Amino acid sequence: MNEQDIDFPCPVCGALESVKMITHIDEIPYFGEHTQITLLCNSCSWRQTDFIPAEGKKAGAWSLTIDSPEKLTARVVRASSCTIRIPELDLAVNPGSNATGYVSNVEGVLKRFQDIINMVQRDLMSSPDNSHEEAEHLSQLINMSAIIAQLSTEEPTPVTLELLDPHGHSMILHPDANERPLTTEELVELPVGPDPAVFSTDDMENSS
Ligand SMILES: [Zn+2]
Repeated sequence: MNEQDIDFPCPVCGALESVKMITHIDEIPYFGEHTQITLLCNSCSWRQTDFIPAEGKKAGAWSLTIDSPEKLTARVVRASSCTIRIPELDLAVNPGSNATGYVSNVEGVLKRFQDIINMVQRDLMSSPDNSHEEAEHLSQLINMSAIIAQLSTEEPTPVTLELLDPHGHSMILHPDANERPLTTEELVELPVGPDPAVFSTDDMENSS
């Protein structure tokens, strides 16, 4: 159980600095890690317990420019239906067959990206193929790691973290984070992961 203050106005009464988030991470057989989030307002007693963030279930994209070490601490709620991208690095993690949602911060998301880069790099280095293409790929990976590492310095070259979630269950909790609706093209193209309820009424509402 983890409780923290959220830098977001209450969606009901608009009170500032009175919304708290309580997160609780659970393991459910056949489903995997499951995060229950409760948002509550001390001013008006509004309360929401769900996997759904305060903004509600609206297909949407969140983005945050990571341009200072402070941004690394921004909370990230990533649902299993969410694609995460860093366009400057040409990196994307799509909801895979075993995608699970998680609550982390920007630093934790970057670490997940770094783990993937390391894994690909190890595979590449252990392969007997020493082609020019492969050397190029390797230097790209090393370059990505360097860009990620410099984000924790005082004045980093900024990159953008993007969350695209057709189910609208994902969110970046930071005052500088931007939200926009997904475009029709994005809604068609984005995978939503293992969720079998692809054609649920829920989705019909989202796409209307
Ligand atoms: Zn309130």
